[in-house]
Amino acid sequence: MLNNNINLVAILKEYGIKPSIQRIEILEFLIENRIHPNIEAIYSILVEKMPTLSKATVYNTLDLFAKNGLTNRLFIEANEVRYDIRTDRHGHFKCEKCKIIHDVEIYNLDTEINKNDYKGMIYAEEINYRGLCEACAK
Ligand SMILES: [Zn+2]
Ligand SMILES: [Zn+2]
Repeated sequence: MLNNNINLVAILKEYGIKPSIQRIEILEFLIENRIHPNIEAIYSILVEKMPTLSKATVYNTLDLFAKNGLTNRLFIEANEVRYDIRTDRHGHFKCEKCKIIHDVEIYNLDTEINKNDYKGMIYAEEINYRGLCEACAK
């Protein structure tokens, strides 16, 4: 546990984020639960461990993580933001039954647009798929 905490502190520092107990706990949650959680999911689980945690702290921490490039924000849902600790290029598959968002690897790079053709400002790319996951499709 101590070694693990040192690692988490090192990750935060690497992204220019001052470590605090809450930030370490939230980072650990994101690393150990690759479920692309929303704020509600992170808060409801961590508040049991840290009763003084507020939803605003979770929101501000995730906002900071995203600004510093430690997490990606996913807008796969119209009404909520999901957070992803994995920041390399990959796609997402959302199961419409169990609502779990899975990572999918991208093999065909033809989905890349020519960014020089488009004069607007592109902030992010999202490649999303929907359907039924293996378990739900049975
Ligand atoms: Zn499912
Ligand atoms: Zn992902």
